[in-house]
Amino acid sequence: MIDTHLHLEELGDVTEVVEEAVDAGVSGMIAMGVDLERSRIALSLAHRHSEVWAAVGHFPLEPVDPDVDALRELAVDGRVVAIGEIGLDFEEAGDVDRTRQIERLDTLFGLAQELSLPVSIHNRGAGDELVQAIRRHPGVRGVMHYFALEWEWAERFLDLGFYLLFAGLITRPSRTGLREVVKRCPADRLLLETDSPYGNAHKRMGVPNRPAYLLDTAEVVAELRGLQLKELDELETENVMTLFTRIRS
Ligand SMILES: [Zn+2]
Repeated sequence: MIDTHLHLEELGDVTEVVEEAVDAGVSGMIAMGVDLERSRIALSLAHRHSEVWAAVGHFPLEPVDPDVDALRELAVDGRVVAIGEIGLDFEEAGDVDRTRQIERLDTLFGLAQELSLPVSIHNRGAGDELVQAIRRHPGVRGVMHYFALEWEWAERFLDLGFYLLFAGLITRPSRTGLREVVKRCPADRLLLETDSPYGNAHKRMGVPNRPAYLLDTAEVVAELRGLQLKELDELETENVMTLFTRIRS
């Protein structure tokens, strides 16, 4: 299976982290970029490790506006498989107001459309605005990263053709509404992530997350959906190949 969203440059010895993940059954990972410099790092890691692909992006609360031309220069590289992490964050305190976040997102969606790359979306408290932004960019496709909402929201993003990305949060038994989404998500729209070093599974609270721990989440998803781990692995890998088309080539 593939960890489709993590921050690999924050995890220390990357060679060791990647080897540990592969040993655990995580055959690939997509390293996100949250600003230009870290997008460059993600790409350099993707060049150094055959199991790693990169996404280039700009986190919504970054103080400076994205340098779209520089991101485009990186994104033409075949090891870049997505534009991310991008999105809207209306909950975290920051200096970037909502209008500016939405303008930036429109620009980055434009880049994704131009390059036919999927997007990895961060959403905190901005569901309606995200739905509108996606509608303004027909053909934009991608994932709702760290999906944490109820079915009503899941349905809205699924209707727009988006995939749902499940992280360690779903392993918490208290998240009944979210676990319902895990059960009901169409099989061809389900993806997995760790969001390492964030997004810990229930049993590893307080420990920096690692891609090897994707299995914690996968085990719970498999159980909730009545699948063998191997079946989930095949299904998720197939979804990854369908959405992140550059991984196939
Ligand atoms: Zn992230």
